[in-house]
Amino acid sequence: MNSKQSVPDLRVIRDEVKALSAYHVQSSSGMIKLDAMENPFTLPADLQTQLGQTLGALEFNRYPGPGIEALKAQLVDYVGVPAGHDLMLGNGSDELISLLSVACMKKGAVVLAPEPGFVMYAMSAQLMGLTYVGVPLREDFELDVPKMLDAIDLHKPCIVYLAYPNNPTANLWEAGAIERIIERVSRYAGVVVLDEAYAPFSGDSWLSRMRDDPSANAQVILMRTLSKFGLAGARLGYLVAQSPWVEELNKVRPPYNVSVLNAACASFALEHRAVFEAQAEQIKWERERLFTALQNISGLTPYASQANMMLVRLGLDPSDAGAQKVFEALKVHGILVKNVSKMHPVLKGCLRLTIGSSEENDPLIKALGLICAQMH
Ligand SMILES: *Cc1c(COP(=O)(O)O)cnc(C)c1O
Repeated sequence: MNSKQSVPDLRVIRDEVKALSAYHVQSSSGMIKLDAMENPFTLPADLQTQLGQTLGALEFNRYPGPGIEALKAQLVDYVGVPAGHDLMLGNGSDELISLLSVACMKKGAVVLAPEPGFVMYAMSAQLMGLTYVGVPLREDFELDVPKMLDAIDLHKPCIVYLAYPNNPTANLWEAGAIERIIERVSRYAGVVVLDEAYAPFSGDSWLSRMRDDPSANAQVILMRTLSKFGLAGARLGYLVAQSPWVEELNKVRPPYNVSVLNAACASFALEHRAVFEAQAEQIKWERERLFTALQNISGLTPYASQANMMLVRLGLDPSDAGAQKVFEALKVHGILVKNVSKMHPVLKGCLRLTIGSSEENDPLIKALGLICAQMH
């Protein structure tokens, strides 16, 4: 044995990787967890037992195979995948975002998205050595269409990401604005990814337009996930696009990217979709209740939401220390939310609240009321 302690030499690691920080997951033990858009509900006990039996009977000795095909068929049916389109599974949409970057990483390629937005678009692009360009949203969280079109003309991004609804602002963009962006990107054969992670809570989907007008949407990829549906721990995302896209993207996908466990959980959830759909209805109902309650707290401005999260702006402290103060005070009350106030200038003074169950939202409303009253 060598007695000298040797320190690893990391020079083979790329500088871009060294410059990044790993995705930070906040510690949450013992807290009311309203920071990550998780579904607050677990499975009813009888379904837990049933799922346990299903999982126990899986052939773990085999690579994933028929179960994956069965899940795909279920999803095609569930989503209503239009003729001429196909579906591809991912280990969460996070993996699909990475695979898109891999598939498009030509020299000088650019990925573009409005900001503030989902952090993985930028992170995945940078990791793969693509250039990332962010275009600020307007103060009212709408797309700045002239700025978007100018940036698209200038950079000719291979991929434009539009989260529909957006994270963290929780709004749907105007359809006309999206159409103009798709039209502009289609001119030079780029692709627009519509990320509908929040579809279970949203009043609109781009899928009907893809079905009704496939030629206008030939350069569109729709992305969804079961994470916000209630399966964040099972890791299952999917994309839908006209078949030639899926054919190419399938070449980049690792052959066994979705485990038999992920697939069996997802299949089980789709078989019992009524349970999950009822949960989504409950969350939407709670969302409206939370919105009204927060409107009645002086010093708070909640923003209307099409997702299972809500932005709230704290108008108390012009120095912008207010968001951090309220974030910390909520922690003292045992409630964890996300402080997004430093993420982007348009989010100044904002916290992002995940919509929980009534047993979670009640203490949140009460705590915010107390905290705001004390700060006045
Ligand atoms: C949460 C979220 C995802 C992540 O999906 P996973 O399937 O859990 O990887 C993707 N896009 C947006 C906009 C999200 O908010």
